[in-house]
Amino acid sequence: MLQNYQAHLITKEQLNQTVYRFEFGLDEPKIIDFLAGQYLLLDIKQGYRQYSISSSSNQHHSVETIVDTLPMGIGSQYLLNLAVGQPISFRAPMGLFTLKSNSNPKVFLATGAGISPIKSMLFNLSESDFSAPFFLLWGLKKQSALYLQDCWQKLAQSKPNFSYHYCLSQENFGQAPFFAGHIQEKLNSMPLPTTSEFYLCGRQPTVEALQGYLQTTLSVPIENIFHENFT
Ligand SMILES: Cc1cc2nc3c(=O)[nH]c(=O)nc-3n(C[C@H](O)[C@H](O)[C@H](O)COP(=O)(O)OP(=O)(O)OC[C@H]3O[C@@H](n4cnc5c(N)ncnc54)[C@H](O)[C@@H]3O)c2cc1C
Repeated sequence: MLQNYQAHLITKEQLNQTVYRFEFGLDEPKIIDFLAGQYLLLDIKQGYRQYSISSSSNQHHSVETIVDTLPMGIGSQYLLNLAVGQPISFRAPMGLFTLKSNSNPKVFLATGAGISPIKSMLFNLSESDFSAPFFLLWGLKKQSALYLQDCWQKLAQSKPNFSYHYCLSQENFGQAPFFAGHIQEKLNSMPLPTTSEFYLCGRQPTVEALQGYLQTTLSVPIENIFHENFT
């Protein structure tokens, strides 16, 4: 149910040059229920900004989001200026980009901070008895932009049905999990089950390009493609 939340900043962690992980502890109400993939609407005092929840939906007392502050608009500046302990408010949960609860194989395509809702979905799957294959292809420019590698490594160790690749568009960094090229090129070389569902998240031009590729080149039916644009 959509509610107003009062919370405070617990953690502000820099993940790469411009990307940060923010964790907020809930004060009132103290508990949140949401679906993996949904977002919160943060009150930034001069307006509102949407931020996808990156924590697992099984975590009810705090929420985490991963934010690229590169745009440096009022949302980025508000978050960067927040100090640990400082109060914030937001409305949540919002959005229809959610993990479908079925047994179809799932392919997650994220670019940049588009990993935020995808992380929540991956954790959600890993904490369930989901047994079909699931894949993460994460598009970034260079290896230096990567973060949370431990997360995906541990997930792959604990879930033999999970595999991941970092698709680096501007660098040839070596062997798997690194792939030199765009997500589309990696997809082209993967034998994917025809029943696969695709979850796409990132900036609008990239998400649109990926969606077009899935539909026209790989003949994926539109009803098997779910996406969130960060505009
Ligand atoms: C449903 C939804 C969920 C979102 N979840 C996240 C999330 O989890 N993490 C996250 O980092 N962002 C997320 N966003 C984007 C976020 O809401 C803001 O739009 C973004 O952080 C920019 O806000 P700003 O106030 O700093 O910049 P603005 O003042 O809004 O924009 C400043 C300038 O940067 C450009 N710009 C806007 N967004 C981007 C961008 N992403 N990259 C480069 N340039 C940009 C604008 O065109 C403008 O010129 C989400 C957006 C939507 C719609």
